[in-house]
Amino acid sequence: MTELERVPPGIDPNVPSSARVYDYLLGGKDNLAIDRAFAERLLSVAPDTRLVARANRDFLVRAVRLMAEQGVRQFIDLGTGIPTSPSVHEVAHKIAPSASVVYVDYDPVVRLHTEVLLALDKNVVSVQADVREPGAVLDAPEVAELIDFSQPIGVLLVGVLHFITDAEDPAGIIAAFRDRMAPGSYLTLSHAMAESSPEAVAQLTTATASSPIQATFRSHDQVLALLDGFELLEPGLVPVHDWRNSDDLPLLPRDELPMLRIDGALGRLR
Ligand code: SAM
Repeated sequence: MTELERVPPGIDPNVPSSARVYDYLLGGKDNLAIDRAFAERLLSVAPDTRLVARANRDFLVRAVRLMAEQGVRQFIDLGTGIPTSPSVHEVAHKIAPSASVVYVDYDPVVRLHTEVLLALDKNVVSVQADVREPGAVLDAPEVAELIDFSQPIGVLLVGVLHFITDAEDPAGIIAAFRDRMAPGSYLTLSHAMAESSPEAVAQLTTATASSPIQATFRSHDQVLALLDGFELLEPGLVPVHDWRNSDDLPLLPRDELPMLRIDGALGRLR
């Protein structure tokens, strides 16, 4: 999307969206001036944000690959974001071509892009829904059609939960999915950490305050608590870049301050 292109109906070009800001950080083109300005502000506060966004995406790819290697054949990707290659279904289909994937995001731009992308794949659907209403997601007809809850599933909450405030009950949201998941199912998440540099937390909190991209930074223990009921695979909850990174990805400049830290984990339902 550029300024010369039409803004899709229902989109306010004066309000940034986390999907489009993230798209800009990853080098995508589906963003508006307001998103780029917001992202540049984040980068001026925490210059490593672009690297961390890339590392977060690479973490997602490794987690999906591992779940597929473990036999998971159905995935629900909560807070999908604007399609970025490789997408969840591309990673899963390399291992299991018939794997089912339901993409869920509340952003209409995400819906627009995923629908075009998925038009030809009957095992992959996109649902526009709010994760804060897990019942509506779980009961969506597309989910009922594609997901067999008697079999293990892989649920992704990558880069999403920090947009959900404590009052919106992230633990309750996870519990709603956990209650429907068969034993042997997996949950993967990544989260903006309170253990980021204090300067980054303070400035990013101020920068995102009262915007739709307001972030809640949670501590290691708080994020671990969200994973209640799941047995974490090694190495547990660690910075996304360090999570099973054998891909020789470039190292993050660790000693540059301020640092935004995003940690990730993959848990198996006991
Ligand atoms: N999961 C992708 C990844 O990690 O590469 C995208 C992460 S992006 C930073 C966050 C996404 O979560 C955005 O696309 C945003 O629209 C979506 N999101 C945030 N809050 C949401 C909610 N309550 N319901 C559904 N989607 C949400």
